Amino acid sequence: MPGKYDAIIIGSGSNGIAAAIRLQQKGLQTAIFEQAATPGGATRTRELTLPGFKHDVGSAILPLGLASPFFRDLPLQDYGLEWIYPEVAYAHPFDDGTAFACYKDLAKTASQLGEDERAYLKLFKPLVRDWDKLNNDLLGPLGIPEHPWPFMKFGMKAMPSARMLVDHYFKNDRTKVFFYGSAAHSTLPLTNIASASFGLVLSTSAHKYNWPFPKGGAGNFTAALLDHYRELGGELVLNQLVSDVRDLPNAYAYLFDLTPRQLLEIKGLNFSSLYRKRMEFYKYGAGVFKMDWALSEPIPFKSEKCRKAATVHIGFTKEEIENSEKEIHQKNTTDTPFVLVAQHTPFDSSRAPEGKHTAWAYIHVPNGSTTDFSEVIENQIERAAPGFKETILARSKMNTHDLQRFNPNLVGGDINGGKQDITQLFTRPIAKLSPYSTPDPRAYICSSSTPPGGGVHGMCGFHASEKVLKDHFRDLN
Ligand SMILES: Cc1cc2nc3c(=O)[nH]c(=O)nc-3n(C[C@H](O)[C@H](O)[C@H](O)COP(=O)(O)OP(=O)(O)OC[C@H]3O[C@@H](n4cnc5c(N)ncnc54)[C@H](O)[C@@H]3O)c2cc1C
Repeated sequence: MPGKYDAIIIGSGSNGIAAAIRLQQKGLQTAIFEQAATPGGATRTRELTLPGFKHDVGSAILPLGLASPFFRDLPLQDYGLEWIYPEVAYAHPFDDGTAFACYKDLAKTASQLGEDERAYLKLFKPLVRDWDKLNNDLLGPLGIPEHPWPFMKFGMKAMPSARMLVDHYFKNDRTKVFFYGSAAHSTLPLTNIASASFGLVLSTSAHKYNWPFPKGGAGNFTAALLDHYRELGGELVLNQLVSDVRDLPNAYAYLFDLTPRQLLEIKGLNFSSLYRKRMEFYKYGAGVFKMDWALSEPIPFKSEKCRKAATVHIGFTKEEIENSEKEIHQKNTTDTPFVLVAQHTPFDSSRAPEGKHTAWAYIHVPNGSTTDFSEVIENQIERAAPGFKETILARSKMNTHDLQRFNPNLVGGDINGGKQDITQLFTRPIAKLSPYSTPDPRAYICSSSTPPGGGVHGMCGFHASEKVLKDHFRDLN
């Protein structure tokens, strides 16, 4: 019989903590068991380069942390969380030194796009208007939508590939490149069906909420969540690698913030051979090569729009981005990869010693790659910001193996807990009525390997805990 705990959560990533908070909110007693010495999974901040320079090892910009239907109702500001809103949500530079900026203001954003102004408004206006109706349906498992009409309209725009969408809506290659910047967060080839959906969700969230980040480091988001969790009575146990569920205290439910490959390695779970077989077919996506820099000054972007943005998407032509995102899935790379850059210190001086700066970037690479891509990344940034290399005081590089060592959920460097293609977008880890439950009635999955997938939104954890409440604590619901 369960003793002290009603439920135990294995892993303290943002989804694990979200699940734990939800169960504590309902009056259950829970504990989180985390293998690492510091909590937070891929949402942690460390001095990776020089003393006093704070770098986000994983997630850095958290639009969905703010927009998440679960997180946005938590009193995280009471636990020290301070959101920072850059003037520009994200910017995209071009070779001639100009750039497009995504402002929260939709009309201001569209007004830069010349002949594509009206098309941009036509694409995003309904999405921004309907976002409050859409977000629960988009950030959850497949089911009957709460708001079928807006959901259907979204689906019609989101199901094509990013390339089909931009070719349909826009005339100007620069506008297409601008949209590709957010669509490429999918880590999919931009010719893949449904790759448009990522660009639509992320850009809509920029127009609705901006793309904010936590003051002092993404780790402060984790810290605020955990302080709230502890105040609700939850317990966190660090340095506890869980390899056999029978070693854990008794509980009605065990929620695993792990990806399928890791879950299958946990002993003592009663899984059917069919379930194991289906889980073995789960696909992991491309990996990332991640860099952080300590800088003597901010990145000297040619464009002022880029200097005002915390996120900068670098990929200079449509073909360059398309090729970069296609080749990695064929185990190749290009010399001009699409680079995602985050710069916090121009807006948050608490992250570096006085007058100094940090920068963060990654590119998508073949899963499991150990190649050092630091030179091509720095070359791409230099193209948009001549003189960048001279500002570097120190650098940190993490290939896919380093990332997986940092956090075992980053299998082969995959930051989304599994490929997010159409076969796994809503039906991860396998297609079943509730993707959160397993054949073992006590075991649940709450990681980004369940819908809605990668990103710091906690909605995988929230939906998994709702399933636990429904299965074991129906009277509390
Ligand atoms: C480089 C990088 C950049 C990113 N950028 C962004 C971004 O800017 N914005 C954004 O929204 N998202 C970003 N992401 C994605 C985001 O961080 C993840 O989608 C999110 O962290 C997933 O949360 P999770 O709780 O599912 O898993 P994780 O955060 O991976 O947490 C899993 C936890 O489980 C623990 N664990 C694993 N195995 C065991 C075990 N056997 N026993 C006990 N504990 C175990 C791990 O140590 C870890 O703490 C990024 C990720 C990376 C790596």
